[in-house]
Amino acid sequence: MKQLLVYCRAGFEKEAAAELQDQAAAFAVFGFCKLKANSAFVIFEAYDSEALQRFYRDFDFQHFIFIRQWLLLLSSELELPAQDRIAPVLQAALAEELSGCGSLRVEFPDTNDGKTLSTLARKLTVPLRQSLRQAGVMLQKEHKRAPVLHLFLLSGTSGYLGLSYPENNSALENGIMRLKFPPEAPSRSTLKLEEAFITFIPKDEWETRLAPGMQAVDLGACPGGWTYQLVKRSMMVTAIDNGPMAESLMETGQVKHLMVDGFKFVPAKKNVYWLVCDMIEQPQRVAARIAQWLIQGWCQETIFNLKLPMKRRYETVKEVLAAFEQQLQEAGFRYQLQARHLYHDREEVTVHVQPIKR
Ligand code: SAM
Repeated sequence: MKQLLVYCRAGFEKEAAAELQDQAAAFAVFGFCKLKANSAFVIFEAYDSEALQRFYRDFDFQHFIFIRQWLLLLSSELELPAQDRIAPVLQAALAEELSGCGSLRVEFPDTNDGKTLSTLARKLTVPLRQSLRQAGVMLQKEHKRAPVLHLFLLSGTSGYLGLSYPENNSALENGIMRLKFPPEAPSRSTLKLEEAFITFIPKDEWETRLAPGMQAVDLGACPGGWTYQLVKRSMMVTAIDNGPMAESLMETGQVKHLMVDGFKFVPAKKNVYWLVCDMIEQPQRVAARIAQWLIQGWCQETIFNLKLPMKRRYETVKEVLAAFEQQLQEAGFRYQLQARHLYHDREEVTVHVQPIKR
C-alpha cells in the first residue's frame, strides 16, 4: 500500500494536495500527488510504503483542513464491467488478503458527474457486502470499530478500493455532512454554523457549551443565518452589521442589532460566551481581530470564517493561521484550534478556537 486517496471539494484539489504533501513531509514521508482539476479527489503516491502507513496511523485526521476523507488504496483503478462489478472487487480484496472489515461504503466524487453514481452506489452496496461477507473479507455483522472498506466509483465501470480506520477517518459517507435547510432561516449560510457546531463541539458537551441563555455576538450577521442558529438555541445575540436583519429574528426579542463596524465593536460586559464572525473581509484582518477578542477575554469560545482569495488559498490559510497563533502565543494565551473547509463552506474555511483553562 503506497497510495492514499483523499476526497475534497471540487476545485480544491491543489489545496488538498499541498496540504497532504506538507503534512506527510512533516512525518518524513515523501512522494507525489496525482490530481485532475475539479475531480474532487487526489491520489498521493509515497516512495516508501511503510512510512506511508505510519503516517496514516499516526497523523490525526481531524487536523486536515481541506481533506474530507482519506483512504489507504488497496488497488489500482479497477475495471468494473456492468455485467459483474462484484467479482473484480472481491478479487482485489482477496489479493490483499483482507479480512475483518466491519462496514462497506460505496462512494463517489462530489462532482456533478459523480453524483449521477449515487443510485448505482446504493444498488451495489447490499449485494457487494453479501459477497464480501461470504468471502470472509467482511465480518458477518456491521462492526463500527472495525476497518471500513470503501469502493470509490469513478464511473459506472471503474473505481478504487480503499481502507480506512474508524478511529482516524471521517465517519460520514463521502466525507460529507448532509444537513436540511431550515425553511425559516434567513439565509443558507445558516448551515455553515450548524455544521461547525456539529463538527467542532462534541454532542455530549452541547448542554454546557451551546446552552440556553448564553450571550453571543455575531459579527457580519446580516441577514441572520448564523444568528438564527444561536437564537434557535435560546441564546441572546448582539448582531453587528450595517445591513438589515430578518424581521423574524428581531421579533424573537433575543436579538439586539447594532449598525456599527465589526472591527470596532467591543462588548460592554465580559459576559459573552460565543463570538461568531462571517464578515466578508481580508482573512488577515479578521483573524487579528478575533485574536484580540480572545486575548482580552471578551468571549469564551469562537467560530469564525476566513474568506479565501482566488489564488494561493492553501498558503493564505497557512500564513493567516500562523500569524493568528503567534499573536495568541505571544500573549500567553493557551487554546485549542481546529480549522476545516466544511461541506457548506465555499471559498472560505471555518475556524474554531477554545481557550484551555488553567
Ligand atoms: N452570516 C450571515 C448569515 O448567515 O446570514 C451572512 C454574512 S455575509 C456573508 C457577510 C456580512 O458581513 C455582510 O452582511 C456584510 O455587511 C458584513 N460585513 C462586512 N464587513 C463588515 C464590517 N466591517 N462590520 C460589520 N459587518 C461587516
